[in-house]
Amino acid sequence: MPAITTQGIVLRHADYREHDRMLTLLSPTMGRVEALCRGCKRPQSPLLSASEWFALGEYVLYTGKGRMTVTSCHVTETFYPLRTDYDRLKYATYLLAIAEAATQPNERAVELFTLLARSLSRLAYTGKDPRAVSAAFLLHFSAISGYRPRLSHCVRCGKPVPDEAIRLMDVENGGLLCSACAEGTTAAQSVSPGQVRWMRDVLQNGIDKTTLPDADAPGALLSDYVEPRLEKKLRRDGLWK
Ligand SMILES: [Zn+2]
Repeated sequence: MPAITTQGIVLRHADYREHDRMLTLLSPTMGRVEALCRGCKRPQSPLLSASEWFALGEYVLYTGKGRMTVTSCHVTETFYPLRTDYDRLKYATYLLAIAEAATQPNERAVELFTLLARSLSRLAYTGKDPRAVSAAFLLHFSAISGYRPRLSHCVRCGKPVPDEAIRLMDVENGGLLCSACAEGTTAAQSVSPGQVRWMRDVLQNGIDKTTLPDADAPGALLSDYVEPRLEKKLRRDGLWK
């Protein structure tokens, strides 16, 4: 019988019968995977930790009767500290929702898998502001999805936008607006030169290396930028406050 082994992160679970759960996994090689996890709600189940939100591990899946079943899992990471800090949990859950909305079944998602695993690790194990970590996730997510924002030239006319003229970002078209193109535009959002510097630096050097202030991370703006490009409506309760 065909068995497949894949890395996976649990994006969500739903109760199924009395002791089972249906897991939605993000796999780097298989994209979004739905797999039944039998008996995982029993207290002594070896699959208990493999069926929790955020669990990362090596899942062995068996395909039969048109669906996948988890037969075993070696859990390598549970990101446990997320469960003890509501603020971090809230952002981590939002990242899972973005990953789920962005992934299709049978579609490779190697970069997204790596980005999500690293971002969850930063949220769970570092003191970094969860808003800055999540904003960096959205920014890199936009880049790997093929719509990295234009942060030095005007998205409409293509002219360079000097730092002192940075004022508006056209989220629909994906970049800054020069002062001439900003004239009379209503569909743009304000952005500060500090926020643009932060985005440039994080895209180039990563969130771990930037020395720019966390407060410059434009989280709400990046949510407004990314969410309309996903097929699913997301909940954003209590974020970016
Ligand atoms: Zn322009």
